[in-house]
Amino acid sequence: MNAITSQSISATSPTGDPFLLTPGPLTTSETVKQAMLHDYGSRDSYFIDLNQRVLSRLVDIVNGEGTHVTVPLQGSGTFVVEAMIGCFVPAHGKLLICINGAYGHRIAKICEYYKREYLIQESNEDVPVDLEQLDRTLERDNSITHVAAVFCETTSGILNPLTEISKIVENHGRGFLIDAMSAFGALPVDSKSIKFDAMVASSNKCLEGAPGMGFCIAREEALQQTKGNSPSLSLDLYDQWVTMNKTKQWRFTPPTHVLLAFDQALNEFDQEGGVSGRGGRYQNNREILVNGMREMGFRTLLSDTLQAPIIITFHMPNDAKFNFGEFYDSLREQGYVIYPGKLTVADSFRIGCIGRLGADEMKGALSAVRNSLDGFGISGKIT
Ligand SMILES: *Cc1c(COP(=O)(O)O)cnc(C)c1O
Repeated sequence: MNAITSQSISATSPTGDPFLLTPGPLTTSETVKQAMLHDYGSRDSYFIDLNQRVLSRLVDIVNGEGTHVTVPLQGSGTFVVEAMIGCFVPAHGKLLICINGAYGHRIAKICEYYKREYLIQESNEDVPVDLEQLDRTLERDNSITHVAAVFCETTSGILNPLTEISKIVENHGRGFLIDAMSAFGALPVDSKSIKFDAMVASSNKCLEGAPGMGFCIAREEALQQTKGNSPSLSLDLYDQWVTMNKTKQWRFTPPTHVLLAFDQALNEFDQEGGVSGRGGRYQNNREILVNGMREMGFRTLLSDTLQAPIIITFHMPNDAKFNFGEFYDSLREQGYVIYPGKLTVADSFRIGCIGRLGADEMKGALSAVRNSLDGFGISGKIT
């Protein structure tokens, strides 16, 4: 290990913090962090205007002006997933959950807490949602009122076919609820071609703001029908929406600093060219990372066609000299934080390519990986 630290190739961000190659929280820009150096009261007119701006910019990202609205919510991403399920699936409803990873299972767990009737359609973590099965299930079971799916299942990094799922759900006249947390802002979602009742994401993933708030982009007509559905007061999106329309204020203490950062993050998102610019940088990050890791002998779980440019799952090497705990620590010492695997199908680890990271950081991470392998006495390719 000494050999590794003494060589000190590393790289840290301008603040001296390590780069976060994880599914979140993520590395943010200097300017996003600086935007938080102010205290605003919740009734301040600057803050109220900023809120309105942020909410309408989010609707614009899905091309939903005039048909869709954004409802923000305090908390981590799961808070708003829970809020979406609680609001949109009424007590007498029934939710079909498409599952191929931990975040799909989390939706099922939310249904358990809320005592909402649900059934699951599960595929392996390395297999996308089965469209024919979905079609058959909806054909057979008229009591299903809504379908939920995860856009990029962050467990593996797999991309689910959102457009095709939405077509099937629409054909059967059911409501579609989407957890787009890890892909929103990096992969296009057009509300004109992907029909959904509600879609949730958060401030800190591909939009590169600070963590602390989620948001639900809802079809206004669908949201209007959710009055009284929520079993939770603080997670009641309908009530949050109605109150904000009336008073322009959040119902409960807003995460003011997170909003200041988010507004700045959206400026930087626009400057980068919106979804195509942001997604393009992540795509490039993914290519550098995957190519470099493969050159060192690492194997990806997913084929390139199934892999979203968000987070990459690598098989754990078999080499007896390789120890994941030491590998993790060694990368951390060099300024790069990676993530353990969460799979049930294979022993694995993950490296993210989202957040304020570019080609230099990806190349830096690859050098750090090489350096760590050298430190373990593994020369050439790992097996
Ligand atoms: C990150 C993420 C969430 C939310 O996780 P939190 O830890 O609560 O922020 C939900 N769904 C997906 C697919 C995610 O990637």
